[in-house]
Amino acid sequence: MSYDVIVIGAGPGGYVCAIRAAQLGLKVAVVEKRETLGGTCLNVGCIPSKALLHASEMFEEAGHGFQAFGVNVEPKLDLARMMKHKDETVTANVNGVAFLFKKNKIDWLKGEARIAAPGKVTVKGADGPETTHEAKHIVIATGSDVARLPGVEIDEKVVVSSTGAIALPAAPKKLVVVGAGIIGLELGSVWRRLGAEVTVVEFLDRILPGMDGEIAKSFQRIMEKQGVKFRLGHKVAKVEKARAGASVHIEPAAGGAAETLTADVVLVAIGRRAYTAGLGLEPLGVALERGQIVIDDHFATNVPGVYAIGDAVRGPMLAHKAEDEGVALAEMLAGQAGHVNYDVIPGVLYTSPEVAVVGKTEEELKAAGVAYNVGKFPFLANGRARAMRQTEGFVKILADAKTDRLLGGHIIGFGAGEMIHEIAVLMEFGGSAEDLARTCHAHPTMSEAIKEAAMAVAKRSIHS
Ligand SMILES: Cc1cc2nc3c(=O)[nH]c(=O)nc-3n(C[C@H](O)[C@H](O)[C@H](O)COP(=O)(O)OP(=O)(O)OC[C@H]3O[C@@H](n4cnc5c(N)ncnc54)[C@H](O)[C@@H]3O)c2cc1C
Repeated sequence: MSYDVIVIGAGPGGYVCAIRAAQLGLKVAVVEKRETLGGTCLNVGCIPSKALLHASEMFEEAGHGFQAFGVNVEPKLDLARMMKHKDETVTANVNGVAFLFKKNKIDWLKGEARIAAPGKVTVKGADGPETTHEAKHIVIATGSDVARLPGVEIDEKVVVSSTGAIALPAAPKKLVVVGAGIIGLELGSVWRRLGAEVTVVEFLDRILPGMDGEIAKSFQRIMEKQGVKFRLGHKVAKVEKARAGASVHIEPAAGGAAETLTADVVLVAIGRRAYTAGLGLEPLGVALERGQIVIDDHFATNVPGVYAIGDAVRGPMLAHKAEDEGVALAEMLAGQAGHVNYDVIPGVLYTSPEVAVVGKTEEELKAAGVAYNVGKFPFLANGRARAMRQTEGFVKILADAKTDRLLGGHIIGFGAGEMIHEIAVLMEFGGSAEDLARTCHAHPTMSEAIKEAAMAVAKRSIHS
């Protein structure tokens, strides 16, 4: 068969690119080797983890939060039902993508793709023969895979990746999480709420690398209050599996005495790596850098007609970044002008409270020599937060000292992942802290704290 576009990989980058290209009148096929569409995100990433985060939060709220509102219940965990909720959520989402493929007349070529030559893709089905297809444009959207700890075998039972951690048959008594990034803290939170004693080991001397330092420090204190233990500045030297569970040997990153932590389950969450195995990129001559496919500003690789997006290329490994790249590339392939603004890509940690960020951190602004003003407002001084007993956290707004243009927004708080978007939209339009401060916000809402933080940039917050 001959197509305008063949997309390899049906994750949020690939499937969204395919749908947009089809909407614009191009003839499109997607090659996906997984049994279902939706990639890492829908099958084993964003969606199932959020289903478990929400469900486990409900369990914890019922056990510890309801009483203060005068609601007395004694919750009993039915983990099998909770997992069923997660699986049903995944099924509904992946089926939704299959429906959208049909609606947009996109062919799903089931199997593993290899790029035989520019314009030629071979597909090897599970047991079927290899078929060859032609395309004017080939889009690589093969995503990423779990980064491994050297010498540590992941069996998805005792030593698990995020994929095993969203499908444990029972809550471990002791969970050691290796890596204090977003995935480790989210899944650590799930199992802590469901009864695990959680210790997070992190090589760096801080959690959430890349996030604003003040936000990371405050959030660490919140997690510690919730019972999570941190061993920062430590590296895992060895993981030894025992008859039940494992011993995790850790030592200070700066050198010093080693220690052993015991665990029923060890979650390796040290990051993800671009996945390009089996695509035939080497004989094709596609340039890679640290495993990622090198692209120009138009998502083009060095081989004409071959493009790449999503986790397989540079930039944050986030589903919405992959999606936006998919849309922009499809529009470019259809002769339009696609665009992604990498300065305004929100990031959310879906814990309780949530952490949501967009734009620059203070550390980045300092390193770039940009003079800035800071405005902060605590949820403790917000009426709605008090009414909901959700007073943890604060909003921090960073604005250019000369122009007042918004440079960054950082929120720890209930619903932060939803609230962050008013800051993102304003940044997209080049708005100022004063614009935000003069926008009428409904009362009583958590969002009023954003307005107050923007007012605090000019030292005129009313409620603090
Ligand atoms: C536990 C977890 C939680 C996460 N939570 C969030 C979150 O809350 N928010 C967020 O924004 N991001 C989150 N992410 C990250 C998010 O899942 C990724 O950024 C996103 O899935 C990347 O999309 P993609 O399209 O680039 O690749 P992927 O989603 O990885 O999809 C790539 C697809 O390509 C297929 N494929 C690979 N090679 C071939 C081949 N040769 N032939 C055919 N098919 C192939 C794979 O089977 C896969 O289905 C999370 C990730 C994990 C692991």
